[in-house]
Amino acid sequence: MASKKPHAIMVSFNLQGHIVPFVNLAIKLASKGITVTFAHLEFVHQQISQSQNSTQTDLFAAARASGLDIHYTTISDGFPLDHDRSANIDEWIANYRDRFPENVDELVRYLLQSDPSFNYFLVADTFCAWSEKIAEKYGLVNVSFWTEPALVFSLYYHLELLREKGHVPVNGRRETVDYVPGIRSINTRDFMSYFHDTELEVLHEYIFQAFDVVKTADFVLCNTVEELEAETISALRKKQPFYAIGPLFPPDFAVSNSLMPEASSGEWLNSKPPGSVLYVSFGSLATIDRRVILEIAGGLLVSGVNFVWVVRPGMVESGGGGVLPEGFEDVTRDRGVVVPWCSQKEVLCSRAIGGFLTHCGWNSILESVWCGVPMICYPLFTDQITNRKVVVDDWRVGINLCEGEHINKEEVAEKIEFVLSEKRSEELRKEIEKVRSTLEDAVTVNGSSERNFDGFVQQVRNKICRRCSH
Ligand code: UDP
Repeated sequence: MASKKPHAIMVSFNLQGHIVPFVNLAIKLASKGITVTFAHLEFVHQQISQSQNSTQTDLFAAARASGLDIHYTTISDGFPLDHDRSANIDEWIANYRDRFPENVDELVRYLLQSDPSFNYFLVADTFCAWSEKIAEKYGLVNVSFWTEPALVFSLYYHLELLREKGHVPVNGRRETVDYVPGIRSINTRDFMSYFHDTELEVLHEYIFQAFDVVKTADFVLCNTVEELEAETISALRKKQPFYAIGPLFPPDFAVSNSLMPEASSGEWLNSKPPGSVLYVSFGSLATIDRRVILEIAGGLLVSGVNFVWVVRPGMVESGGGGVLPEGFEDVTRDRGVVVPWCSQKEVLCSRAIGGFLTHCGWNSILESVWCGVPMICYPLFTDQITNRKVVVDDWRVGINLCEGEHINKEEVAEKIEFVLSEKRSEELRKEIEKVRSTLEDAVTVNGSSERNFDGFVQQVRNKICRRCSH
């Protein structure tokens, strides 16, 4: 029994910011000799395939061709493929919480029965609150994967404590919290948006439930770097095995994971001087007020800098056809590119990029630091609010887009000019170089993330063997 090969069952979550690191995690696990069965939700698979204009049924074919033992499948979320999931998020989450686990159960049962020569274990996103029940039912080792910083994990983890002390819901207060283990001090202003909200919706309840569930996981993996969040991680580790294994980036071969077609701006970027282009993106999910878009557009006009701006369909709630000001694209034709979606990592890696105006999604932050690009921060909701503090206050590798409540184009232009001026942003650049090399060191052979990952793999092997021999 003990010599059976480990086999990870991975069922991915539906959001782009979760899919990207989860796919990279699958590849990383397989590169350590673990067999993986990876399941995307059917509609996610369809979206990825459509975005590539492809009929491929196996998104991991290239990974397997390179020698990795990854099997790919899809799983239904219970709705027809053409169902508009965004029209009623509450309905989707309630279904995901209550009925979807039956489909996971069926997949797990099928795998266990069809090839009992493996030692299976479960790897699920921390937002997959169904993981505990499935793991328990089949006696599987349960691994939870957290795609955001350890700081955010810890705040959710200590929700009950924060509620007892009256700091959640925040209710507009600005108070310093210094009693959460491993977090020296944080202002309630920097809590994730869900801690500010007073009316709890299905989504809030679901996320909070996920943090009750995660306490039962055998292991937690986090897409962060030990040296950057040492105290928080060390405190979490006193509660359960917690491994910082980031940043998780893709390998050389292509595994499609983009939910939208990527427009290319590579040639255009190559024609621009180094450090002269601002990249602007608010990620895959957040919606933004059109007034903010207009001030950003105004700021780009006033500053006169080059830019690549991702204007995602649906990004502005009331946008209709015209999201950008009339004539904006004509006026900026020579110095700006507006795209609905792009290969962000490719754009950030271009020498032409000198700054990133970002919503502070965690993947975007890691990618920006990796490429040594300082940030201008405009967080919109969820963990982005807390991530801003990490970027601006803790690491000092970015600045706020606006200091007051309201954004105006003059301030936007000033912030853009500051970051794109190598001289004025010298301090930011020095700091980002330090954080960048910490990220880079972490993923070298003897780096902390690599060692943590190896340690985790060893512990999983031990644990599944122990379970099997009982
Ligand atoms: N992304 C991309 N193209 C774009 C915008 C974003 O490939 O035009 C990718 C980005 O590189 C990142 C992910 O989408 O890996 C977004 O994740 P993040 O955590 O930054 O933000 P979220 O979308 O979850 O808010």
